[in-house]
Amino acid sequence: MPATFAKASEEVESLGKALAINYHLDLESARVKIDYVFAFRDPETEEPALMQKGHRVLGVPSIVNLKNRAKGMGDCEVVLDGDAWNDMTEDQRKAILDHELEHFEVKREKKTGDFLFDDLMRPLLRLRNHDREFGFFDNIASRHGNGSFEIQGLRKMFSEAGGAYLPHLRNQLPDSMTAKGQSVRVYALSDPPKDEPAEDPPDEGATVTVKRGLLSKLAEKHAAQEKHDQ
Ligand SMILES: [Zn+2]
Repeated sequence: MPATFAKASEEVESLGKALAINYHLDLESARVKIDYVFAFRDPETEEPALMQKGHRVLGVPSIVNLKNRAKGMGDCEVVLDGDAWNDMTEDQRKAILDHELEHFEVKREKKTGDFLFDDLMRPLLRLRNHDREFGFFDNIASRHGNGSFEIQGLRKMFSEAGGAYLPHLRNQLPDSMTAKGQSVRVYALSDPPKDEPAEDPPDEGATVTVKRGLLSKLAEKHAAQEKHDQ
């Protein structure tokens, strides 16, 4: 449990505003009012301010109900880990805020597509689920390999959308996983084709062939970078 809360800084407000204009036009068009709050840990216990299912999360989105909207609150709320926020780079701050905003969806009338409003004429919202979410036990992935839902989930993730984020991961492989000066390819949870050479990656720079045994490390790193809400 957080020890204390504080209204988030002006910087959060303006970053959120810029992100909404760029990537969440519905929130902007429906004039969704977002409350930003920092939660800080109790220094006595050192437990992170925000926890879910035993894991630290960096943000928690929620929808404000009619009664609290009537009392002057916003339409939705983003609680951020204020301790973590102070240590984040600007890129990380943008990413976590963008993530939280992605959770909010303005409800629309099915036939007309018009926004829906409550009795106070405030926009009705729903919380959008993550595109991907799966529980991951390293031991199970290791013991059961392809039979495990851990590996199946990873493979599905990389095959469906890996093109969008594998390049980011590849550029940050730890030194132990890279061979200097060598051309590198990342085979997402599958063995490289035996007969034909894989195509060169679209971007330039040092890359490395990541074999099956290293993929769990890759996934681990990815998961570590993904530490956020829910
Ligand atoms: Zn989330």
